[in-house]
Amino acid sequence: MTKVRVRYAPSPTGHLHIGGARTALFNYLFAKHHDGDFVFRLEDTDIERNIAGGEASQLENLAWLGITPDESPLNPNPKYAPYRQMERLDIYREVTEKLLEMGCAYKCFCTPEELEEEHTRQSDAGMAPMYNRKCANLSKEEVEALEAKGTPYTIRVRVPEGKTYAFEDMIRGHVSFESQDIGDWVLVKANGIPTYNYAVVIDDYTMEISHVFRGEEHLSNTPKQLMIYEMLGWTAPTYGHMTLIVNEQRKKLSKRDESIMQFVSQYKEEGYLPDAMFNFMSLLGWSPEGEQEIFSKEELISIFDEHRLSKSPSMFDKDKLTWVNNRYIKERSLEDVVCLCTPFLEEAYDLSNHSDQWVKALVAVYHEQLSFGKEIVELVKIFFEDTIELDQEASDFMQQEGIDNTLAVFKKMINDEDELTRESVQACIKATQKEAGAKGKMLFMPLRIATTGSMHGPDLASSIALLGKEKVLSRL
Ligand code: GLU
Repeated sequence: MTKVRVRYAPSPTGHLHIGGARTALFNYLFAKHHDGDFVFRLEDTDIERNIAGGEASQLENLAWLGITPDESPLNPNPKYAPYRQMERLDIYREVTEKLLEMGCAYKCFCTPEELEEEHTRQSDAGMAPMYNRKCANLSKEEVEALEAKGTPYTIRVRVPEGKTYAFEDMIRGHVSFESQDIGDWVLVKANGIPTYNYAVVIDDYTMEISHVFRGEEHLSNTPKQLMIYEMLGWTAPTYGHMTLIVNEQRKKLSKRDESIMQFVSQYKEEGYLPDAMFNFMSLLGWSPEGEQEIFSKEELISIFDEHRLSKSPSMFDKDKLTWVNNRYIKERSLEDVVCLCTPFLEEAYDLSNHSDQWVKALVAVYHEQLSFGKEIVELVKIFFEDTIELDQEASDFMQQEGIDNTLAVFKKMINDEDELTRESVQACIKATQKEAGAKGKMLFMPLRIATTGSMHGPDLASSIALLGKEKVLSRL
């Protein structure tokens, strides 16, 4: 096989979306599995939709995920540069000249209004709208006359008649399209800028791209691209069209869907770990052999097999993401998790009365169960609130006989301590058991409810120690 070269080619029209990140990820895994190059190219020809900082934001978020391109606008290989389409207009122009000369393309002077009218006429007649080829056979003189008048024009491809465009898709197998279903489409817009379907061919060819993994929505673009390759006598890359990502209602993930955070930056902001995201996204439409689901980046590169990419839609399972992320958090050192949580704690609470040691001990209590950094804010609420509220179940529980006495005994024990530590609280609980004669659930539950307000929570003695003497006494 010639050297594997793949590319991720976003338009800088927004920030890195989960779908785009997954496309980048599978291209990256494939490239690295085959010791190939992963190229970042910017498809910025839709100038009205480009946003400032779009390119930088894409690259930054990819870098956060651990996906670093071998080549990009910032890291160009002179053999293939430039990497932004708007800097490649000369390259496209040369190819367009050639296609015009060969008679494979022609200038079209139809106005947008005319095209719109024809479109409506065809739709009304129940036909699929297609360019009517009005300008396909203008004479050289007619073209020159129109040009001399400065009439704006687009350049269209002359779609060959009676052709079948077939290819072996790495994911979908044999796919074919008939040329009769494709109208003469626009290669170059009136402003001289090429369309996506045209520029992508020239770029993939000149950048020696060998394989393309991209979204399913591009499947129907492929015959258009293949016809250009064929006209120019170029070999097309091998394509693989990846499955859709759907939400839990099995609907296609759309950028407006609020049930799921759609942008990689949001996960970063909520305190998800990049290697966990990398792992989770690798399972969106791909599966390894066997049951294992937690893999390091190196393992994924080594086992990645494009034959195991799925044809059926892949559900974005939020519970699975939090599970994966929790698995990675558990593996991190306590110091790392404290670093992860501290910014969220600082934003939500006043930590000025607490030592670093206290914050560390607080995070330690939740280390095992934490699903993502920001979750800590909700989990530790009871340590910062002045009053606690009991739900119905907890307050019913507290009505039971003997509980008042247990609490009173425990309060006295705590009062006698100078400072609360996990050990001293444990000793107080033991002593309360003896003196009040309560044990098991009738001992722990009243203490837990009275101090934390809840029937569930992490280690009781640690929680009480962290609350501190003053808060515990007032709650009791
Ligand atoms: N700019 C295109 C997109 O973001 C790239 C499509 C392709 O990979 O060919 O969808």
